[in-house]
Amino acid sequence: EAIYGGLNSLKGARVLVTGASTGIGEQMAYHYARFGAKIVITARREKVLQQVVEKCLSLGAQKAFYIAADMANEADPDKVVDYALEKLGGLDYLVLNHIGPSPFSMWKGDVDHTKWLMKVNFFSYIQMAWKALPSLEQNKGSLVVVSSLLGKITSPFVAPYSSTKFALNGFFGSLRHELAMKKSNVSISVCTLGLIDTDSAMEKVRGVTDVPAYPATDAALNIIITGSTRQPELFYPWFTYFIVITKDWFPSLTDYMTQNSYNYIP
Ligand code: NDP
Repeated sequence: EAIYGGLNSLKGARVLVTGASTGIGEQMAYHYARFGAKIVITARREKVLQQVVEKCLSLGAQKAFYIAADMANEADPDKVVDYALEKLGGLDYLVLNHIGPSPFSMWKGDVDHTKWLMKVNFFSYIQMAWKALPSLEQNKGSLVVVSSLLGKITSPFVAPYSSTKFALNGFFGSLRHELAMKKSNVSISVCTLGLIDTDSAMEKVRGVTDVPAYPATDAALNIIITGSTRQPELFYPWFTYFIVITKDWFPSLTDYMTQNSYNYIP
């Protein structure tokens, strides 16, 4: 309650959240709704989006719309931003969160999958960010990018996924410099998440790792607070920050701990 009162600036805020049919994106949509925001959500599955929109309206969203889109499709990222601009009359927050499904397994040479994943997890992000930037600039808005610890440190079984997250960190880190040098109104928040208990993540790591999973609803709230307070980075849970700042000091120890966090028998 105190939190929802405290972030008054989100009342009436115009927000576009991607990948909001399930997982962390869905939870973000519900939090924004409780804050009284105006929301557009997107993902591929229309039926599910429709249900999320209904729940957003019942939780207190001033407005809630959905648009089905496939981010591997060249035209869809622009189409989605245009739709949000038209429905909401501008944007205060662009929250980029969607990811395409990717196997959790050793690299077996599937370059086509990696190219496809780059389209979904990376190229669509930069396309949407560029399209939304003029409106964000007008409204002193925020760009929020949901990344991962696997965009900061390397790990086995996730080569394609990890590449897309490293690409995001590189790109949006560079763009943040440029916006600062131009004295832009727009803030960029890049979110480094550890393991979160969404169905899709749990399905992959069940029985494979003992790394603790943190609740999606709490991760979602932390991402929203990071965006609305215009902080450049979020580390959630907190120890992901510790891992990132120590990894270059003790690289062999980090590699040892990474490889031993999985139950793998060759
Ligand atoms: P989910 O798999 O639960 O959700 C992914 C979302 O993306 C869904 O809404 C899905 O909906 C949508 N999506 C999938 N493919 C496409 C596509 N081609 N075009 C458009 N939308 C698509 O993911 P999480 O909630 O677990 O993760 C959310 C974010 O958090 C991601 O950026 C992820 O990298 C990050 N993260 C998650 C961690 C975790 O452990 N869960 C750890 C670290 C980071 P639909 O199928 O309807 O299209």
